[in-house]
Amino acid sequence: MDELARAGLGPRPFARWSEPDDDVVPSSRNLVWLRERLGELTPTPPVPVSVIAVAESALPADAADAFAGIVGPAYVLGDKEARLAHAGGQSYSDLLRRRSGHQVTLPDAVIRPGGHEEVAAVLDRAGELDVAVVPYGGGTSVVGGVEPERGGHRAVVTLDLSRMDQLLALDDVSLTATFQPGVSGPRAEELLGEHGLTLGHVPQSFPRGTVGGFVATRSAGQASTGYGRIDALVVGLRVATPVGSLRLGTGTPNAAGPDLRALFTGSEGTLGVLTELTLRVRPAPTERRYEIWAFPAFDRGLEAIRTMVQDGEVPDVVRLSDEDETETALASQGSAGRVAGFVSRVRGVRRPAFCVLGWEGDHDSVQHRRRVILPVLRKAEASSLGARAGESWRHHRFDGPRLRDALMDAGVLVETVETATSWAGLPRLYRAVTDALRESLTGLGTPPIVMAHVSHVYPTGASLYFTVLARQLPDAGVALDQWDAAKTAASEAISASGGTISHHHAIGRTHAPYLTAEVGRVGVVVLAGLKATLDPHGILNPGVLIPPSP
Ligand SMILES: Cc1cc2nc3c(=O)[nH]c(=O)nc-3n(C[C@H](O)[C@H](O)[C@H](O)COP(=O)(O)OP(=O)(O)OC[C@H]3O[C@@H](n4cnc5c(N)ncnc54)[C@H](O)[C@@H]3O)c2cc1C
Repeated sequence: MDELARAGLGPRPFARWSEPDDDVVPSSRNLVWLRERLGELTPTPPVPVSVIAVAESALPADAADAFAGIVGPAYVLGDKEARLAHAGGQSYSDLLRRRSGHQVTLPDAVIRPGGHEEVAAVLDRAGELDVAVVPYGGGTSVVGGVEPERGGHRAVVTLDLSRMDQLLALDDVSLTATFQPGVSGPRAEELLGEHGLTLGHVPQSFPRGTVGGFVATRSAGQASTGYGRIDALVVGLRVATPVGSLRLGTGTPNAAGPDLRALFTGSEGTLGVLTELTLRVRPAPTERRYEIWAFPAFDRGLEAIRTMVQDGEVPDVVRLSDEDETETALASQGSAGRVAGFVSRVRGVRRPAFCVLGWEGDHDSVQHRRRVILPVLRKAEASSLGARAGESWRHHRFDGPRLRDALMDAGVLVETVETATSWAGLPRLYRAVTDALRESLTGLGTPPIVMAHVSHVYPTGASLYFTVLARQLPDAGVALDQWDAAKTAASEAISASGGTISHHHAIGRTHAPYLTAEVGRVGVVVLAGLKATLDPHGILNPGVLIPPSP
């Protein structure tokens, strides 16, 4: 991928999150444990990129010339490498398709605008030229949000926003920062860090996700309980749409009619392109304290964190694993015997549920906020595993996607499903989704490990995040069907149990069939009407978010 590096895109592994030498490799003991649980695994290394058939670009010369006239010829990339590097997102199915070379779709070209005016001009011309446009931040979508789909148009281009990576303004009195959309998570923190500030938004996709993508998908970071979801941080937006541009937000809450920022926050590139984002920032913490606590059972942990959040005394990071996720984490660290032994000695608990609790801020506030929840932890009979365990979690918190690469190499199906509901509805939703995933995969002859955690908590409810491990069926087509069946079963269970189809991964193409169940027929009519007004030629991200007319 030298060509990509030359084009300024940086190395972007085709079928993985990171390069193989950056993998988090499971130990041989861990693989033995997985085989005992899942059955014999068939290693499935990715096929070489060179064997993947690449169809000729369908972008007509007149369109390529028109776009080159706007962004400059160097920033309209029609070469194979650039097109391959934008062949979709990062879900298990996306990676499986690219690893096997099965059903890989590519954009006809990649366009890299340098600023708002260029984005606006590209959208204007794309409508006239009948070319679909897929806005692309870090490409970490797990719901088919950056799939290059033509949607009946002559061609499709991916609008890669990575050149737009500047901090445009900083107001250190009001504590707001205005970013271009292509600023990645680490770059945002680096730019703010120079001023002693932080955004505090750290989804697991942080290393590659962008602020534009975070807002376009309404993402939630690992510290969302303390810092708020990204939607809570949006102060202002500049948006380019095919019918013109908007500047939204006055710096404070207001009563000037419906809040139009909310239309574009979570619009997933279907209504316009977010070109400037003014976000709330805070002083960087001077102290961080992360700890792991062991609850005697998942439901005891749920009760304790509900009490904390409803009392207004919740840590900034809360991540409560169920018993299965706790057991798997212990097995993967090879320390199962030692830690489980400790917990059962202290409490006589056979299958604990671990919980990460993290506080960020200045010394006094961290100490005070930690102290006030100790009675709640004691009442729930939780045992502390200490700050070293918590720091270790913080240190490894972005390892997941790198471990996934290695597990997929070994022949493991590994994917996640997420949802959220009220506290009252949580136990039923948890059971329904767990059962649906287990039954679907067991029915296909691949009994899975299904485990879950709660990691975003609110006074009224919480998210549920499931991770599934199973033996991947050999043959890419069959393996894709294997996960499709499980995902459909889980999505139907979510809809039937009153959960949201997405707490933070967004709708994309994968969840679009379930949106009507969530917002109703009239809700979809409203969205379709907005789309018809702002994007009359339907060029922006066809197939994403809005289901076909009910
Ligand atoms: C390993 C992994 C871990 C993840 N962890 C989390 C997590 O902890 N929390 C979470 O919320 N999500 C998570 N995600 C999901 C996803 O990465 C996030 O939703 C993220 O916000 C997407 O950012 P991005 O820049 O990669 O966007 P992309 O994937 O590039 O785009 C996502 C969608 O937004 C649109 N879009 C992108 N930029 C713009 C723009 N400037 N204007 C208009 N539309 C735009 C795209 O067209 C697409 O529909 C994870 C994904 C992966 C692969």
